[in-house]
Amino acid sequence: MRSTNLNIRVCFAAVLFIGFLSAVVYIAAVMSPSTVHKDDRSDIETADHETIRTIPPGIEVDFFEDDEAQDVDDDEDDGEEAEAENVDEDDQSREAEEQPVCKYPDLQMSNPEINHLFDKSHLHCGGRPINYLTYLDSNTDDRIGVIRLNSSALLPGEKLISCRYIRIDYLSDWENNAIIVHTKDFKDNNETTLDFPFEHEFARVSCQYETEVFSGTGTEMMVKQHNNMFQQVKKKPPLEIWAKQLHNSGRAKEALGGGLNVLMVGVDSTSRMNFMRKLPKTFQYFTETLQGYVLKGYHVIGDGTTAQFIGMFTGFLEDELPNTKRGTANATLCDVFPLIWRKYKRMGYVTMFGEDEAWTGTFQYRTTGFSYPPTDHYMRPFWLAIEHLPGYRYYGQFCLGATPKHHYTFQYMRHFVDKYNQSLKFATAFHSQLSHDSVNLIQSADQDILDLISSWNDKGYLNNTVLIVFADHGARYGEIRQFLQGRLEERLPFFGIAIPKWIKEKHPEIADNLRKNQERLTTAFDFHKMLQHILDYPGDQSRFQGHGISLFQEIPLNRTCEDAHIADHWCTCLQTISMSTSNDFVIASAKFLVSYINDLTLPHRNNCMELVLKNITHAEIIKPNKRLLQFQESSLQFHVAKFGNMLRLPFVDFMLTVETEPNGGMYEASVRKWFKRDHTEVLADISRINRYGDHPKCIRDKFPRLRKYCFCKEFLHPT
Ligand SMILES: [Zn+2]
Repeated sequence: MRSTNLNIRVCFAAVLFIGFLSAVVYIAAVMSPSTVHKDDRSDIETADHETIRTIPPGIEVDFFEDDEAQDVDDDEDDGEEAEAENVDEDDQSREAEEQPVCKYPDLQMSNPEINHLFDKSHLHCGGRPINYLTYLDSNTDDRIGVIRLNSSALLPGEKLISCRYIRIDYLSDWENNAIIVHTKDFKDNNETTLDFPFEHEFARVSCQYETEVFSGTGTEMMVKQHNNMFQQVKKKPPLEIWAKQLHNSGRAKEALGGGLNVLMVGVDSTSRMNFMRKLPKTFQYFTETLQGYVLKGYHVIGDGTTAQFIGMFTGFLEDELPNTKRGTANATLCDVFPLIWRKYKRMGYVTMFGEDEAWTGTFQYRTTGFSYPPTDHYMRPFWLAIEHLPGYRYYGQFCLGATPKHHYTFQYMRHFVDKYNQSLKFATAFHSQLSHDSVNLIQSADQDILDLISSWNDKGYLNNTVLIVFADHGARYGEIRQFLQGRLEERLPFFGIAIPKWIKEKHPEIADNLRKNQERLTTAFDFHKMLQHILDYPGDQSRFQGHGISLFQEIPLNRTCEDAHIADHWCTCLQTISMSTSNDFVIASAKFLVSYINDLTLPHRNNCMELVLKNITHAEIIKPNKRLLQFQESSLQFHVAKFGNMLRLPFVDFMLTVETEPNGGMYEASVRKWFKRDHTEVLADISRINRYGDHPKCIRDKFPRLRKYCFCKEFLHPT
């Protein structure tokens, strides 16, 4: 296992660099790398300063001390377990399954600390549609679409000069091969038609026209250019034949059902919470209609997109592979990565990778990129061409004319899946632009992502497909990162897996393990192992490449971040610190808990007695680890993690066990105390951990949910 220091170095390598990138993208004013995180720093300082003032008096524990030594009191635990054995069978409150060693933070979509950051803002591209002058006519007799001209779109005073069809091919990850294939001249004739056959994967059609411009001395003619971009998946028959031969030769026969497609649809910088907030239609469809599994403990393994993708597609940390860091001595190209796509290709799959934002490409921004396409279909030339368009900036960051750019990525994926509907395929579409710097804009893509995955379901494609809907990490920029919840969300991206129904029936162990793993500590490494498992099930995992445990297996309950190759500062598993039960703050929280229970039975006060706090038998604080709270940023140049002042804890969570009178009830619950707002709340369900027998008899049948709280008056003075 690599040391934590190494992990820190790997993970932190990109923060400063991408921080710089973000600043350039976001703000017109270019900031120097050393000032990129200025805002973060000053806020953390302020926050820390506030910490000193806002910790309530009476707490004896230093929240910010390293707390390894402070374990939960064993004696108390034993007593609790003994009590737990007596719980009524109809008591739903205590979980039947054992809890993982790693306790996740109880994140909720709504949190008063960050709610102000969310709004309903949507993307409005405006302007003339990109295809107002040239457009693709797919309704031709020929199987090939034709690019035509909408000459009526020309305004009075505008006159066409010529149009060119430029084919865009891959030359390298940095440069395209652009070849003029068709030209049409309009200058000396009155023609107004165009019919360029769209025969290539990517093409640009560029039309020049004259237009009248008014100046001080009268009108002048000026030459302008209109560009339109076209993309499609051009099926490569030899590839298909080759793939089929491999498949038929039996190499993939061992796989589940003779081979499952892997389709991955991803968005950048979207935590599980934010996915649920901003992509609710997709979330609902994925979890309800497709019965997909969502991994609640899916952690980042390093910093930024690159670390997660390298983990997902190779099973290793970047620093465990040959050096591919741009600008470093002896850096080699990313071709050396042991990518899973190649393994799939050898098993008869056709592969595709498409991500927008070529200039910040996952494998090109801070690493060296590839010297040849890593997949059979590779969208990078299209995005490079867009970024090379004259007047690119004019088009705006998210739009090409009136077309949102994210449509192109999803459309390309859709084409790919349609075109190769008879072949086994592994495809990944990753959208970055909308969500990279905004926690809100991704909501503009909700319907589009839903349309894409539901169309596959409607066409029956998902019957032999493992569908992955995912994000790489949570938001890494902006105000949200200043808050504890933002910091936790950054580390817990959305990761969902949907498998065909028949697999759940044929291999119930897979469904069962995925269901359990939803609550376990998981990473990209585990997903990578699962990708190998898809090709070789049940297979011999000891022969699989890389770290992790296949998600088709059960991830152990006792897994720690260290076991899972997650460095401390990325680890969200909570730590517990034992508290004195005579602490004023603990007592106040326990009283709050009892008053909360009394509020639940208040409408039934004629029947149910008011309860009184008799005793606090156990109290502990639950909080994130110190390194997570201290982490500020990392330096690309020196690969050193920077830890600064402790982030202010906006609240503290108490885990309490209390005893009440007159019912002799034992309850266990989490109580959250907010510092700033002087507000207290009970989190999730309250567990009744001892037997209540007939005590709730008077309301038992009518109000089953209140059984554990109600002590019927007749028991106080039994007749
Ligand atoms: Zn990312």
